[in-house]
Amino acid sequence: MTKRGLQYFTLSEIEPRIWFMLTGCNFHCKGCFRPARDEGGTKLTAEETLERMEQACLNYYGKVPTEAMITGGEPTLDKEYLLSLVRGLKAKGFKKIVLMTNGYALGLDESYVPELEEAGLTEAHVDVKAFSEDVHKWYTGESSKPVLRAIERLDASGIKLVVQTVYMPGIVEAQEIEKIAQFLASVNRDVGYRINPFAPIFAYERVTRRPTLAEMERAYEVASQYLPNAIISRSCYREYPTPPPQKTWITVYPDLTVKRRGMEDQREDRLSWLSEVKSRESVVKDWRKEEWDFSLRRSLVGISESPARQSDPKGETGQGPLKVKFPHSLHGLTKTQETELDLDGATTVREVMERLAAKYSDKFRDTVLNVDKGDLITIKRSFNVYLNGVDIESLQGMKTEVYGNDEIIILSWVSGG
Ligand code: SF4
Repeated sequence: MTKRGLQYFTLSEIEPRIWFMLTGCNFHCKGCFRPARDEGGTKLTAEETLERMEQACLNYYGKVPTEAMITGGEPTLDKEYLLSLVRGLKAKGFKKIVLMTNGYALGLDESYVPELEEAGLTEAHVDVKAFSEDVHKWYTGESSKPVLRAIERLDASGIKLVVQTVYMPGIVEAQEIEKIAQFLASVNRDVGYRINPFAPIFAYERVTRRPTLAEMERAYEVASQYLPNAIISRSCYREYPTPPPQKTWITVYPDLTVKRRGMEDQREDRLSWLSEVKSRESVVKDWRKEEWDFSLRRSLVGISESPARQSDPKGETGQGPLKVKFPHSLHGLTKTQETELDLDGATTVREVMERLAAKYSDKFRDTVLNVDKGDLITIKRSFNVYLNGVDIESLQGMKTEVYGNDEIIILSWVSGG
């Protein structure tokens, strides 16, 4: 039975969900930001990995969850191991099993995708680093053709497909993204496509700079001409509410020791990894700068950088309608990206939510709100509500006052990537 290196599991603090971080990769992306790409971790068979996963989840949640994300590094390197892992997860009752991959091995081996589907894989997130062969080879060391073939095979299977690309100024820009979008549209124009901004602080080699908002918007415009389900977001392989990022997460190591880790711990991991190619001082300096620079991240999800406005119902700010923006996941229900509500004086977030539920059906209420027997209404854990750019949880929750001209943004969690 073959073994693979397991760096750690990550457990969600939001709802039962587990990530498997496997080590090793067949690509050598210059801008890689994952220490797991190198060999390392504890070598385990798929059965041993599943046993430790089960124990980690029982210890932390008291049960085994139903959602798993298999990531790395590159999880597809050992087919026998991956198929056994997916089969084992399915046998333990997992309903959503997501593979995050560069797709290369799936394109080389014709039977890999059908076997993964049969094993129980439900979703695959494939990174397309570049479309052009020369760019792809220069950046990853390998051809793009198997990756593109993998996308065709996944689309033809019953596995849900999501594709992502990192925007890298001077390397993968709107023109390259247009080629990827054209290719994807030729396969299936309804495929989900996410464009993430390059983050040099995390990169093994600082091959380029962060893109500007204008560059990201341009790439989005180009991609959406071909793909109605294109979005721009930031790269992330855990889960974050967006924004602000989740400050801590639960890491369980293969020996089952548990640590609640935060940005400082992540910085230390990256520092020791990057110290192979950069000085510690320069990484620390960049990290500090990056940690405070959420402007692009916020702009990408439409959050204003300005602090919450102190609305004044008697002044000019309280006279206009309230604007409400919906996340992509609710557009099917609302049939619109945003709406306006006329307010007769001050109201509360709770009343706004009730008006939205009345306007958009019980399905909206069931999807977004928890209503308990005592008529207490809260926002479901999979959504965040922001008033003028500030999470209502840091204000007065559902009792937060709202005035005309205010802006409410409902966001759903971003995961994977
Ligand atoms: S970015 Fe992903 S595919 Fe590229 S080397 Fe790093 S882990 Fe491998």
